[in-house]
Amino acid sequence: MKRGNLMNFRYKLMQFMSGRYGIDQLFYLLFGVSTVLSLINCFVPWLAVKVIVQLLIYVIMGFAFYRVLSRNVWARSRENQLLAKFITQIKKQKNIRRQRKADYTHIYKKCPRCHAVLRLPRRKGKHTTVCPKCSKEFKVHVFKA
Ligand SMILES: [Zn+2]
Repeated sequence: MKRGNLMNFRYKLMQFMSGRYGIDQLFYLLFGVSTVLSLINCFVPWLAVKVIVQLLIYVIMGFAFYRVLSRNVWARSRENQLLAKFITQIKKQKNIRRQRKADYTHIYKKCPRCHAVLRLPRRKGKHTTVCPKCSKEFKVHVFKA
């Protein structure tokens, strides 16, 4: 009898969820963020801040569950793809930073005018360089060779 009820519940849940978006990485992220916020909120001594954070948690959770139950699967998967893109971007940036750090013979400086990144030989002292992109002349100070 009990098992039958469980099966029935499962069937009803499946029926309810059919055509709806369900759980994805963005859901876990939103859920995680609101969990962390709730934990932090336990230690917030100011009532006004506590209330605002609590409202924020409700909004995030609301959005998370709205996404799970949404029938607009295309829009929801696009949101999740944006998150995936964002994560890839961060990983790329991290990789670039690691590569530049490992480059002992050169330094990387941003041109103050066009923001192009210049790879310059690492020679201690003050130098003047010319940006190859916009031909702006600017000073570079290398502290350690
Ligand atoms: Zn430039």
